[in-house]
Amino acid sequence: MKFYDINNPSNKVTLEEAVIKSISGTSGLYMPESIPLMPESFYNSLAGLGLQEIALQVSVAMFGNDIPENDLQQIINEALSFPIPLKQLDDNIFVLELFHGPTLAFKDVGARFMAGFFQYFLRNQDKEVVILVATSGDTGSAVANAFYNKKGVRVVILYPSGKVSGLQEKQLTTMGGNITALEVEGDFDDCQRLVKLAFADKEVNNRINLTSANSINFARLFPQSFFYFHALAQLGRTLNPVVISVPSGNLGNLTSGLIAKKMGLPVRHFIAATNRNRVVPNYLSSGEFKPQQTFHTISNAMDVGNPSNFPRLLEIYDRLYTVITSQIKGFSFDDEQNRHAMAELQKLYSYQADPHGAIGYLGLREYGLAKDTLGIFLETAHPAKFPFEVEKATQIQVAIPEALKGLANLPSHSIKISNTYSNFSALLETLF
Ligand SMILES: *Cc1c(COP(=O)(O)O)cnc(C)c1O
Repeated sequence: MKFYDINNPSNKVTLEEAVIKSISGTSGLYMPESIPLMPESFYNSLAGLGLQEIALQVSVAMFGNDIPENDLQQIINEALSFPIPLKQLDDNIFVLELFHGPTLAFKDVGARFMAGFFQYFLRNQDKEVVILVATSGDTGSAVANAFYNKKGVRVVILYPSGKVSGLQEKQLTTMGGNITALEVEGDFDDCQRLVKLAFADKEVNNRINLTSANSINFARLFPQSFFYFHALAQLGRTLNPVVISVPSGNLGNLTSGLIAKKMGLPVRHFIAATNRNRVVPNYLSSGEFKPQQTFHTISNAMDVGNPSNFPRLLEIYDRLYTVITSQIKGFSFDDEQNRHAMAELQKLYSYQADPHGAIGYLGLREYGLAKDTLGIFLETAHPAKFPFEVEKATQIQVAIPEALKGLANLPSHSIKISNTYSNFSALLETLF
């Protein structure tokens, strides 16, 4: 499979280059030349397949000409070593729990799979690769965890000062080793901008092998499609229409779902559910894509004013606005609605959701599920990552999972920087 640069489609690269470079020289995102349709036999047997089997078949369809099946199998078995259960809350409301990985957010799926790809492609090289990653909270820890102590890789995480939860910050700053955490005086979009500027900086790129582990990297994006197939597999054979609500920020998760749909997954609509950062719902209702300044909300991992995967969303549907709006519905919600949703989920279903999953639930509610339609919302993080808001809304204490216990007592290490590029590039110079 060749990959093309969305900014310059005649520029085609191999899978290896798309993964190791992450983004083209013109800051363009890579897309596969074609999105393969899974065969009917796959869908006929889907209800009986497990997560790893699904991941293998879908990966072989996309990457089978570039990576031997045995290696794909090994990458998948190591990356997807935790369950992703679909739970039923009501006659036609289901929740797909994506938070059972080591850092308790769905980012583990993509980060671990991507780490496997890096190990595979770098296996015969002795060049060091530096991964720059901007995080609004969960990406950084998932990437740090996935790449911790991995040979030939160093990770630099940029996170917005004061805008991630206490536990999220602990997860970012306590790893040490080949992981460096930078606390940026600014918001997530500042972090993302600094990373983009570094990629465009010739001098820096001549000196360091930079890459990214944000969902602009196709190896992080694509594995997220597996859990959509897995969700429908768990639903079992059904003739009822299915709608999936995705709590969205940078649109990596939504784009993965849209790719699954392009591969033939029978989903009637995807819902882009956002917090106050409503660039995508605005686009869907007006046809105009206007990046905005970021608002800080209680679903901080979705505080994105200029979603990086938007060009991919356009590309999947050949930029046809009417097609896009026939496939994707978009709704946004403020913090008050979010708190009510967390309380309601607790009251109606004894389900303690986190502030991101609650936005997904609100998306289903706003969509207005017909009786015969099955709605799935994604629960993207464990509520224990946001204990303060969850406990306030649900009036019930959050059980702290093993992975987070003890974290609070570990010493944090981070370097504070301003949101100016000169400050960041000077620091890169001292680090590498
Ligand atoms: C990253 C994240 C999101 C948003 O996902 P995108 O792929 O950026 O749209 C939602 N919820 C949680 C918990 C996250 O960490």
